[in-house]
Amino acid sequence: MERAKIRLFVEQPLGQGNSVPMTQPQANYLFNVMRLGVGDVVALFNGQDGEWTARVVDAAKRRGMVVCEQQTLPLQTPPDLWLLFAPIKKARTDFIVEKAAEMGAAKVFPVQTDYTNSDRIRQDKLQAHAIEAAEQCGGTYVPEVANIKKLSAMLDAWPEDRHLLFCDESMVGEPSRLQDLPQGPWAIVIGPEGGFSDRERDALRSHPNSHPISLGPRILRADTAAVAALALWQSALGDWA
Ligand code: SAH
Repeated sequence: MERAKIRLFVEQPLGQGNSVPMTQPQANYLFNVMRLGVGDVVALFNGQDGEWTARVVDAAKRRGMVVCEQQTLPLQTPPDLWLLFAPIKKARTDFIVEKAAEMGAAKVFPVQTDYTNSDRIRQDKLQAHAIEAAEQCGGTYVPEVANIKKLSAMLDAWPEDRHLLFCDESMVGEPSRLQDLPQGPWAIVIGPEGGFSDRERDALRSHPNSHPISLGPRILRADTAAVAALALWQSALGDWA
């Protein structure tokens, strides 16, 4: 079977013979922009059923239908890693969510901290960024982007078994030791451009699940820090290991 060049995220269940209607923007993209027509194939994933090759059976300007023919990839779930980050400027926040999806975070939590640059996020837009990132990086899983919550509230109700990788800028210059960290569910915590307040640092350091780490000899911007921490964790404990 020919290999599809275009990958699309859909909401519908995928399986042999399943018909999947295209949304108006998907139909526009496939049939107007990319000039696909009846008989062509696309790759579909929905975050649950792996990747499927589907054939176009109806191609109109504003609608279309494809039918699943063959599974090309099983569902590949990332390790149980959350990313908690404080939203910064819009383009950099978008970047963090995109990179979290590419780097294999299971769930993304925007959190409000004492020095958070922005308290509002468009959860739907951020979720769309995660979907786009999965479409382009060949992923079959899309991390859920949660609505913004207070960091303090999350720490108060923290799951007992989940370790916290606290990226603490006050440890700049210390070695970033990840060799001896335990296996299990984890969460990376990245602060905003203004860093963490003393109060937050105390709460994060004294939390029973916390493992404070340094990200090297330079202070990184929050978006760089998120990618660096994800890479370190994935290579020490995750699916790069
Ligand atoms: N304005 C702060 C820096 C904030 S950097 C200051 O000058 O101290 C944004 C976030 O990235 C930090 O809260 C931290 O979570 C992470 N970060 C950046 N560089 C780091 C480093 N060298 N070690 C650990 N965490 C770092």
